[in-house]
Amino acid sequence: VIPAAFAYIRAGSLDEALRALADPEAKAVAGGHSLIPAMKTRIARPSLLVDLRDLDLRTITVGDETVTIGALATYDEVSRALAGVSGVDALRECAASVGDLQVRNAGTLGGGVAHGDPASDIAAGVLALGASLELQAAEGTRSVAADDFFLGPFTTELRQQELLVEVSVPRTGPAAGSAYTAVEDAASGYPLAGAAVVVGREGDAVRSCRIAITGLTGAPQRLPGAEAAVVRDGVGADIAAAIADLEPATDDADYRRHLAAVVIARALRQAWERAGERSNA
Ligand SMILES: Cc1cc2nc3c(=O)[nH]c(=O)nc-3n(C[C@H](O)[C@H](O)[C@H](O)COP(=O)(O)OP(=O)(O)OC[C@H]3O[C@@H](n4cnc5c(N)ncnc54)[C@H](O)[C@@H]3O)c2cc1C
Repeated sequence: VIPAAFAYIRAGSLDEALRALADPEAKAVAGGHSLIPAMKTRIARPSLLVDLRDLDLRTITVGDETVTIGALATYDEVSRALAGVSGVDALRECAASVGDLQVRNAGTLGGGVAHGDPASDIAAGVLALGASLELQAAEGTRSVAADDFFLGPFTTELRQQELLVEVSVPRTGPAAGSAYTAVEDAASGYPLAGAAVVVGREGDAVRSCRIAITGLTGAPQRLPGAEAAVVRDGVGADIAAAIADLEPATDDADYRRHLAAVVIARALRQAWERAGERSNA
C-alpha cells in the first residue's frame, strides 16, 4: 500500500497545470479519493502529480436555465448549493449519495466525472439531465455532451492533456421532474445499482423520459429501450421487461438486473411526482 515514487507540483494556474500535463506520465489530482488509492495499489503509477486544488474552479452558478459547476466543487458543496434549486433534483441526490461525509468533503464533481468509474453516482445524474462537459487543453476548449463522454471502465472522452473545467447542467422545465435512487454497497456506499430519471409530464401522460444507470455495466449509460417503454406505457411501464437484455458486467447479473429495475421504478415514480408538484405549483 505504498505508491511508487512520484514528483508533485501544486499548480498555481490553469495554464501551469496544463503545461505540466504535457508530460505523458503526469496525472492531475483533485480530491485524491480515487487516484491515491489506485496509486497505493500501483494500478496507477504517474511519475508526476499535478495538484489542482488551488485553481479557481469551484464556483457553482445557478442560472434560470442552467446550473454551471466548476470541476473542483466538492460533492458536499454541490449538494448544499443545489438545496432548494428546482429542475436539478437528480444531480443533488447523486452528489448526496456519494460515500460518506468525509468522501463528499474531499471528492470533486470533476474528479467523479473524469475518473470514469463504472459505479460513479454523479455520472448517472449528468447523463440523465443531459449535461455538457467543458474540456480545456493548452490549444483551447471543447464541449462534450455527457452522452458521448463515458466510453468504458475508467475510460472517457477526456484526453491525457485535457482538464475537465466545468459541467453545465440544464434545469428541467416546470412540467418535468428528476430523481436519483440507488441501492448501495453497505461498506463503501458505491451503488450496486443506481438510476437517475428525468421525466416530462403532460397531465397523466409521459411526454419525455431519460434514464441513466450506474454501478452495473462497464460504464454509466442511458437506457433508450426503457425510456421508450415509459413514454409508450407511462409510469406503470414494465421496467423489468424493458431491461431484460441488459447485461451487467458482474457475476451476479440477475440480481443486479433486478436491482436496476427496482431503482429505475423508484426514481421514475419520484421524478413523476415532482413533475406533478411543479406543474401544479
Ligand atoms: C471510501 C470511499 C468511498 C467512496 N464512495 C463513493 C460512492 O459511493 N460513489 C461514488 O460515486 N464515488 C465514491 N467514491 C469515489 C469518490 O467519489 C472520488 O473522490 C471521486 O470519484 C473522484 O473525485 P476526486 O476529486 O477524489 O478525484 P481524484 O481521485 O483526484 O482523481 C480521479 C481521476 O480523475 C482525474 N481528474 C480529477 N479531476 C480532474 C479534472 N478536473 N480534469 C481531468 N481529470 C481529472 C485524475 O487525474 C484521476 O485520474 C468513494 C471513494 C472512497 C475513498
